Amino acid sequence: MATCIDCRQEMATAAACSVAVIPLRSGILIRRPWGSESSWRPREGERCPDCAVLPGGLHHLGCDVEECADCGHQLLACGCLDLFDEFELVDELLA
Ligand SMILES: [Zn+2]
Ligand SMILES: [Zn+2]
Ligand SMILES: [Zn+2]
Repeated sequence: MATCIDCRQEMATAAACSVAVIPLRSGILIRRPWGSESSWRPREGERCPDCAVLPGGLHHLGCDVEECADCGHQLLACGCLDLFDEFELVDELLA
């Protein structure tokens, strides 16, 4: 199974990611937890279909479902954040 490169937890069993704030070039992004999306309405106890966190928990970074708290679009695609490559680079350096 996959391990989150940011919180280093097993994604299938972790309740939430522990990285609450993401640095942006223009400031910081306070992340939206699973269940606060405009296009998703999880049932009680339903894990995120992509990253498997529990409702109310932060998505693991890079989750398809997470919405950008800044612009409201899909965080992976909205362009506010282009740090994913850097996150992976850091992970490789630490490994
Ligand atoms: Zn995580
Ligand atoms: Zn998710
Ligand atoms: Zn955005």
